[in-house]
Amino acid sequence: MQQNRSKVNMPGDVYDIVIIGGGPAGLTAGLYAARSKMKTLMIESFSVMGQATMTDLIENYPGIEKTNGFDLITKVKGQAVSFGLECAQGTVTGIGRHSRDGVSVWKISGDGKEYETLSVIAASGAYPRKIGVPGEKEFTGKGVSYCATCDGAFFRGKDILVVGGGNTAVEEALYLTKFGKKVTVVHRRDRLRASGVVQERAFASDKIDFAWNSVVEEIRGGEKVESVLLRNVKTDGMTELACDGVFVFIGWNANTGFLEGVVELDEKGAVLADDEMKTSSEGVFAAGDCRRKVLNQIVTACGDGAVAAYSAEQYVQELKGIAYH
Ligand code: NAP
Repeated sequence: MQQNRSKVNMPGDVYDIVIIGGGPAGLTAGLYAARSKMKTLMIESFSVMGQATMTDLIENYPGIEKTNGFDLITKVKGQAVSFGLECAQGTVTGIGRHSRDGVSVWKISGDGKEYETLSVIAASGAYPRKIGVPGEKEFTGKGVSYCATCDGAFFRGKDILVVGGGNTAVEEALYLTKFGKKVTVVHRRDRLRASGVVQERAFASDKIDFAWNSVVEEIRGGEKVESVLLRNVKTDGMTELACDGVFVFIGWNANTGFLEGVVELDEKGAVLADDEMKTSSEGVFAAGDCRRKVLNQIVTACGDGAVAAYSAEQYVQELKGIAYH
């Protein structure tokens, strides 16, 4: 819907910007928007743990040699709040257009609450992909996990399986060597996708084994996980491997269910946004892992967040009839 660009005077309870998501993208957007004196609310869901928060070791955020996701996120949040970012908890389930005093605003709803805003930044991240094999659902929380920092300590002295060959799988396998007797990385190809330095560390670890060209066909057990059935994709041979824990790190799906029918998504559900973070819907911007992009990193999520806040600010200023420059 095209907005009337004449000066808009909104009631005080309408936000300039509502940001959905409290990861690196959402919080950076919040920091930039709040510093620009936009009336900004960030809504975060505690039922969804972000990818960054789950990361134990971050060593490629420029200027910070080593940190963990929780500490980094806590610092950025404190920084944004100190500039006036408002925060709310809740899981957003829908957004839609709505007329308020003759002006079309966005209404954000979820958990029985509603917020009105002139613009929206979707920074809702992604959720872990499932393997989709028998036993995965039944044993989730009983040996199957998607978060090493949350559950690794339950597997002290145990045999752990990690599924995947990307940065997450290999970094988390390394982290899990702190607890496990042995960590077997099951990867569907014969080479890792993870970056070189991470691969080197994994190959140097005497606690990590690799099951190459292999996929998990079934997770088995009684009360808890006891073994997995592996299939060699080259030979189709099946092997049963005893283990106590199965950590699945095979990538992420964009968390965009609430945006279906609102903005254009790609075939995998990621938001299509341009390099100004504008989506197909006027007044809705996207940042971080919920949008389609070439490099999913904390530093690129932060960059997206800054650009989205700048674009949203321009949009709001224009709506209000305030010259931007
Ligand atoms: P990813 O890079 O997409 O890797 C997913 C891995 O899972 C790949 O090795 C893939 O195999 C495998 N896989 C996918 N579907 C599978 C299936 N159905 N069955 C078995 N294996 C499957 O995901 P990620 O490792 O979570 O990383 C996500 C993004 O975050 C990436 O851009 C990554 O670089 C970034 N990240 C960066 C860091 C860092 O910089 N330190 C840390 C963590 C994540 P194939 O290789 O055969 O495709």
